[in-house]
Amino acid sequence: MNDPAPPPPTITVVIPVFNEQAVLPELFARLTALFDAHRDCTWRAVLVDDGSRDPSAALVRAQSARDPRFTLVELSRNFGFQAALSAGLAHAHGADAVVTMDADLQDPPEIIPHLVAAWRDGAEIVRATRRTRAEAGLRRAGFDLFHRVFGRLSDFPIEPNSGTFGLLGRHALAAFEQLPERHRFFPGLRAWIGFPTADVLYDRHERAAGVPQQTFRRLVRYALDGVFSFSHLPLRLLTYAGLFVALMGFAGGAFFILWRLLGFENSQQGFTTLVTLVLFLGGVQLIGIGVLGEYLGRVYDEVKRRPHYILKPAVTAPRAPQP
Ligand code: UDP
Ligand code: MG
Repeated sequence: MNDPAPPPPTITVVIPVFNEQAVLPELFARLTALFDAHRDCTWRAVLVDDGSRDPSAALVRAQSARDPRFTLVELSRNFGFQAALSAGLAHAHGADAVVTMDADLQDPPEIIPHLVAAWRDGAEIVRATRRTRAEAGLRRAGFDLFHRVFGRLSDFPIEPNSGTFGLLGRHALAAFEQLPERHRFFPGLRAWIGFPTADVLYDRHERAAGVPQQTFRRLVRYALDGVFSFSHLPLRLLTYAGLFVALMGFAGGAFFILWRLLGFENSQQGFTTLVTLVLFLGGVQLIGIGVLGEYLGRVYDEVKRRPHYILKPAVTAPRAPQP
């Protein structure tokens, strides 16, 4: 007797949305076409509205009414991309695999079947890796600098050309949900959890419409999260800098004592040297305090144990008056 065919795998696509009114209709159309073309999987899309100030949430709600494969998760305010992503992953519970992607169609949905194919071939984590980058100018330079620094600092190197776009299998998703930290740097955590990983190459496009919702400041903060949560090297560098300055101090002191013992006069000059030294040491100490502060602030955020995000209460039909 033949075994019944296994049920098709459930694939959930998680998409953070913040003021994406302009791209949502095209996103829905392309995802629907994809879902309809690949009937060998059960598809769901979880769109997390991260406190949009435009009608994005209403658009998703309307889409979900038309097509129940689309689900809206609403956060109570704008918590930022990483929190929105976490909310989406939490709502993908039970899926066999989760695809994470941006709403702006820089990550083309047409790549998703390739991610799924790599997962079916045995990879638990699939990264969509850019063959090209659409960004230019300052953003591009920033990305390049970050990846060079991060590659040096972290014990868990991340693929410089892959971002959020990718797939997590069930086990990787479960591992990800065990990570309690608030400051999340998704590509780093994805590298940290391990598991067999595959790469799928693709061409990254410009946004389909609208402007980038991640401000440059946010990206810098995200980059700092990456460095400070994956490396203690900044602290160690401070220790080295301290040792170096202290050694210089000793050497200088010994030199001046010898100078006196040999019978030379102390010159009254040296104002410039003094001012330079005082400013230099002051600077080193302030940088040191700053680096300590970065770690301390993160420790503080972690011990507060606030939730990563708050959900908006679901809109329900008004209750009938009680008799
Ligand atoms: N996004 C979000 N919350 C934010 C900012 C952005 O959920 O506070 C979403 C945004 O809607 C998009 C994704 O995160 O789906 C990436 O944002 P964006 O395209 O602005 O960033 P970039 O392409 O510069 O990384
Ligand atoms: Mg984008």
